[in-house]
Amino acid sequence: MNCYCNAFEEINEFRSPNEFKRFQDYIGDFVDDGKLVEIPVREKYAGFPEQWYKCKVCALTWRLVYPDFPYKGEWSVVRYEKVYEKLLLDFKNCQFPKEDLCNQFEVDDLTQATIETPAMISTSDVIAVLTAYSKNEIMLEQLLDWVNVIWFTDLFDYDEDQSDSIASVLSILEELDEDDNELTKSDIDACIEALENNQEVWICEEI
Ligand SMILES: [Zn+2]
Repeated sequence: MNCYCNAFEEINEFRSPNEFKRFQDYIGDFVDDGKLVEIPVREKYAGFPEQWYKCKVCALTWRLVYPDFPYKGEWSVVRYEKVYEKLLLDFKNCQFPKEDLCNQFEVDDLTQATIETPAMISTSDVIAVLTAYSKNEIMLEQLLDWVNVIWFTDLFDYDEDQSDSIASVLSILEELDEDDNELTKSDIDACIEALENNQEVWICEEI
């Protein structure tokens, strides 16, 4: 079966509002014929209005970005890797909850999500999330979600030189949802200190 995408070429600018309008009508015909399906925009290209269309045959996604003078618009293939890269960065920085990441990857369980290039986690990322938690900028539930996604999914990878230090801290955080384990201010300080020195953390159990 012939793919309709073959007829499309990327356009990196429209020469006039009229040309854009004609192109929009041209794409509209593909939608009317059921050859392209409009899907929600996941990540805007440059803040300008845009629409995304998925090809029915090859599932390639195209974006139509509206001109907004002096910007002249664009028609191009969506690079999902770039989109995911930004999403993972935002998640890493606690910009949105786990549920949103599930929606974006279209999975119920993020351990099913895959990506070509996992995002990198370094000690400074873990320090940032612990600091945010200690300042009550994020709640325990979000901290646990963060740890679980970083620890159990293939979406993130650790900086190799720092992986022992990171793993030692995450393994403590990961147990926070069990029993009455809690993270005291001094535990957080010990974790941050270990991360800053790229060492494994050692927390004494109180008896
Ligand atoms: Zn196609």
